[in-house]
Amino acid sequence: MIIDLRSDTVTKPTKAMLDAMMQARVGDDVFREDPTVNTLEERIAKMFGKEKALFFPSGTMANQTALKLHTNPGDQVICDKYAHIYNYESGGASFNSGVSCKLIDGNRGMFSAKQVLESINPDAYYYSKSSLVEIENTTNKGGGACWDYDEILKIRNICDDNKLGFHLDGARIWNALVAKKETTKQYGLVFDTISVCLSKGLGCPVGSVLVGDSGIMENAIRIRKIFGGNMRQAGYLAAAGLYALDYNVDRLIDDHKKAKEIGEELKKLSTIKMVEPIETNIVIFELNDDVNENQFVQRLANENIYIISMGGRKLRMVTHMDYIGSMHEKLIGTLKKL
Ligand SMILES: *Cc1c(COP(=O)(O)O)cnc(C)c1O
Repeated sequence: MIIDLRSDTVTKPTKAMLDAMMQARVGDDVFREDPTVNTLEERIAKMFGKEKALFFPSGTMANQTALKLHTNPGDQVICDKYAHIYNYESGGASFNSGVSCKLIDGNRGMFSAKQVLESINPDAYYYSKSSLVEIENTTNKGGGACWDYDEILKIRNICDDNKLGFHLDGARIWNALVAKKETTKQYGLVFDTISVCLSKGLGCPVGSVLVGDSGIMENAIRIRKIFGGNMRQAGYLAAAGLYALDYNVDRLIDDHKKAKEIGEELKKLSTIKMVEPIETNIVIFELNDDVNENQFVQRLANENIYIISMGGRKLRMVTHMDYIGSMHEKLIGTLKKL
């Protein structure tokens, strides 16, 4: 039994999901003739109360397309220092869109409306033009933390006052919605564009979707083509997404419960300095100064338990669909023995 907690992207499609994929009706999506892709896009657009949605091969490409839609070269994007678009997209913001990032020193990947206001450059020609605010919900490097919706509303008002776009990296928005009992419509209401992943907690092999209204989304398909993201009979993949929306959203609560239980166990260990608050499916903890990080990771690996380092003596575990009850029992048992 291999217990892989490195990420919620390690899941493999279930038999039922594969069956749904096998039965998909497909066509050439470059001609916009794939009925399953069209259905998925229409469904997700509608869920968020937006006019348009576009299927992407990755969350990175969906985010990078959003940055391109909102900015011109030389502009500045306001985001947290932990932001995925800044840390984990290979410098794509500068490579693809020629923009810089103004990094906010937030808390667990989140910041306040006041900090946004302070980060907007003055309207003078020698400053970079602030054109977009980008946030992540849940935050990845922030340990699966969920934003306070009221703070998001306040940021929306600041964006309106200062003519800034507002993009949500919703790679794990499903986790946030389930944890906070919020709705897709609430999020559609406040953001200009939202990227959502199907390949994280929802368990699909591939796929992300970018949503927005017609105006901002007009060029999305052209940008996707430029980035090389056009696909042909992608309905086989979209079918997995449709299946996941039906069956794999509500169950996320189970991943969250397991993550909290892991956290409780970790807190009892003398080798651990602190466990970050656990709101969803990500557990980030820090080892004591006298504990060797590699040895700690290796000790778990010897038991077929895999976790990853986040740098700075922090380690991460992520619960997911394929982390089943028997694995959870074994992990908890192993932690008790550490
Ligand atoms: C995983 C992730 C993405 C997208 O990653 P891909 O691997 O390109 O699908 C974007 N943002 C966040 C916060 C993520 O965790």
